[in-house]
Amino acid sequence: MGLLLVYTGNGKGKTTAALGALMRALGHGLRTCTVQFLKGKWKTGERNFAESHGLEWHMMGQGFTWDSRDVDRDKQMAREAWTLAAERILSGRYDLVILDEVCYAMHYGYLSCEEVLETLRRRPEELNVILTGRNAPEALVEAADLVTEMREVKHPYKKGTPAAKGIDF
Ligand code: ATP
Ligand code: MG
Repeated sequence: MGLLLVYTGNGKGKTTAALGALMRALGHGLRTCTVQFLKGKWKTGERNFAESHGLEWHMMGQGFTWDSRDVDRDKQMAREAWTLAAERILSGRYDLVILDEVCYAMHYGYLSCEEVLETLRRRPEELNVILTGRNAPEALVEAADLVTEMREVKHPYKKGTPAAKGIDF
């Protein structure tokens, strides 16, 4: 039976935990798909790796031209990414689907949690789905099999250290 896993909280490690599971799944020859619900500012190491190794990887906003502070645009992009993600989830073609930062999209009301849950309930029996992002909605926490809340104890950001290549992106 597939599991619903949620990595949330304010501490660092949510996306990297999902990427660790992705590596495990790939090592077993499992079929994976990653959809990122965030605006692509820069080329992250994981995205470069996914592209150079032929992994299925989608970023919200592919096909859009950037318009920095347009909320309707963000909504539209999130919706488009969710349409793609829902198709992948229901397709039966994958063993693991990662919805990175999808909690953020739900928290800001770009996506309805109920709609996401409704699709997750109809997913193929063996499919594992990992959802990440701060502020996981209560209904998602309720529905999940595993929820880990990352808690910040220390973060170099507090000392003004910039994001580090290979660690943060
Ligand atoms: P990571 O991608 O490193 O696993 P994350 O997914 O838990 O982090 P996000 O909330 O998605 O964290 O934030 C993305 C970026 O912000 C990453 O570069 C991450 O290192 C950084 N970050 C994470 N937690 C904190 C924090 N408490 N303070 C400042 N920056 C943070
Ligand atoms: Mg993240």
